[in-house]
Amino acid sequence: MASFYDNHNHSQFSFDGSRTTIEASARAGRAAGLSGMCFTDHCDFFVPPVKAEFEHLVPEQFDIAAQQEEIDRVRELLPDFRIFKGIEIGLEEKSREENRRLLKEWKFDEVIASVHYLDDTDPFWGGYYEGKGWKEAYGHYLETICNEMILLGDFDIMGHFDYVARYAPYPECSICYRDFPDIFDTMFRYLAENGKALEINTKTYQDYKGRTPVLDPDILKRFRETGGEAVSLGSDSHDPARVGDKFRIYADFIKSCGFTHAAHFRKRQLVLEKI
Ligand SMILES: [Zn+2]
Repeated sequence: MASFYDNHNHSQFSFDGSRTTIEASARAGRAAGLSGMCFTDHCDFFVPPVKAEFEHLVPEQFDIAAQQEEIDRVRELLPDFRIFKGIEIGLEEKSREENRRLLKEWKFDEVIASVHYLDDTDPFWGGYYEGKGWKEAYGHYLETICNEMILLGDFDIMGHFDYVARYAPYPECSICYRDFPDIFDTMFRYLAENGKALEINTKTYQDYKGRTPVLDPDILKRFRETGGEAVSLGSDSHDPARVGDKFRIYADFIKSCGFTHAAHFRKRQLVLEKI
């Protein structure tokens, strides 16, 4: 029987995760039939002024010691369910040094590297898309993740490459391999050569203001062709109801693109489980 791990979840320790707790989400994941999950709370050392104005949060770091202690407590309550300690580290030019320092200082099972803010703007709160067509907006975001993750190096999963399409104002709401082959090839070679995972983030593929991005199978097929083995499933849940959301659908999708396993990480080591 396939065993599924949800590698991307937020808890009460993320600035935006107050709709759940580690215990509530872990119980939901266990009840949903997952084998385990990882809590990857947000850490963004730099928050653009446009967002800080709305939310008065500069920067967005979580209390790592408290989160890890709470995970230890919930592990004892649910001994038959695997709970991993993670972080979602925000790639941003201004955060490079602090990201490196933090990752040296703390131990995690898994590190997701992702981009939430770029060019002093926030795709969610706006600003980023102004004056850009869809191709420039998506292409520049992909280039930014690619460059920053390679500079960081110290991570396990490249998180939500298609975050930029989630909240975009264009009718073109899906990111396709054919539109950005060179950037994807550079990303995929780096991930494949370094044993890192490509994340399928199921939060992207849901309705947002009447538009629903879809996952392009050519992205996964090309990752496989370039030697990529590790694909990780993440719900990006901020509430218990979304833990493991649509995993069976996306596990089948991954299989149809040539993968037999899904990835997760324990103590920063890649584990591949049959799906
Ligand atoms: Zn994220």
